[in-house]
Amino acid sequence: MPSPRISETNCLVKPNLKDMSLTELETFISRFGKQKYRARQIMKWLYQAHAGSFEDMTDLSKAFRNEISDAARIALPEIVETRVSKDGTKKILFGLEDGLSIESVLIPGKNHWTVCVSTQVGCQMGCAFCMTGRQGFKRNLLPSEITGQITRLRSDMPEGENIKNIVMMGMGEPLANYENTVKAIRIITSEIGFGFSHRKITISTCGIAPMIEQLGKDICVNLAISLNAPDDITRGRLMPINKKYPLTTLLDACRNYPMPGRRMLTFEYILIAGVNSSADSAEKLARLLRGMRCKLNLIAFNEFPGSIFSAPSLDEMQAFQQILLDHHYTAIVRASKGSDILAACGQLSGQRSQRG
Ligand code: SF4
Repeated sequence: MPSPRISETNCLVKPNLKDMSLTELETFISRFGKQKYRARQIMKWLYQAHAGSFEDMTDLSKAFRNEISDAARIALPEIVETRVSKDGTKKILFGLEDGLSIESVLIPGKNHWTVCVSTQVGCQMGCAFCMTGRQGFKRNLLPSEITGQITRLRSDMPEGENIKNIVMMGMGEPLANYENTVKAIRIITSEIGFGFSHRKITISTCGIAPMIEQLGKDICVNLAISLNAPDDITRGRLMPINKKYPLTTLLDACRNYPMPGRRMLTFEYILIAGVNSSADSAEKLARLLRGMRCKLNLIAFNEFPGSIFSAPSLDEMQAFQQILLDHHYTAIVRASKGSDILAACGQLSGQRSQRG
């Protein structure tokens, strides 16, 4: 159960109901002599009716609302800034209670939005092609801060629009904040939470092999692996995690990941000119993934201030894709959305825009 914490000003901060699972909430309200079904009522208020205060929870007695508001609080990240790309992508900057910031991205589809949420403030994984990695690591997000990005964006959405897919590919490595990420997913998929199907949720990881195996045992969501190289030497230069979990270990963990029905693993491959985008790299990649039920997303490197890499030409990218298609892989060249507002893959920093 989340316990009270000490705030910046040394006050004891009451626990946030939005950090509690259903079981934790049941235990919490039992101290007021309340039965378990009350916890389900509260969950529905929090995640389906977007209640921002205890006063909103009109099917609870006034006395109980007073008791619970003396002992707990409801807190969410606040939207600080929204930037809109020329392609319709939106980047949302959120302020957290301790003054730190994170970003989410809303990506437009035909009739819906996909939201890319953050799971950490910064990231300790240090991938060379990623602006978030350059910022260093500040802290893990709490469950309330992960689900809160979705709550805020959903309640801000115009009538008739909705979020259909959730991808955990924003700031941070979700599997390095395992407990809070899984708790958030359980709330997102619960029928008394947001009610999303597991099939609509994707976790992206840089390749923490043991946690991939653990995730497969705990929860069944789509898995995307940020691969980015066909051999250990190149991958080790781009992604320090590869030194701890080299490709053989990573791919073994991927093979053990349960993928029910017709679901496939996704391998993300950021193409970087002169590093991993040659025909030879494509051939090696085809050999590396042989026999795996997977699809490949090919993404041109997105530049950011201070980045040392550049994207290959479109011709080079198409030649890379063609080699994979010739080897009978599903390989898609993904258009990077929102790069003009630094909202594309690898460009999030959690900082306010610089306006002239
Ligand atoms: S790519 Fe992902 S794991 Fe790597 S530094 Fe960026 S946020 Fe972290």
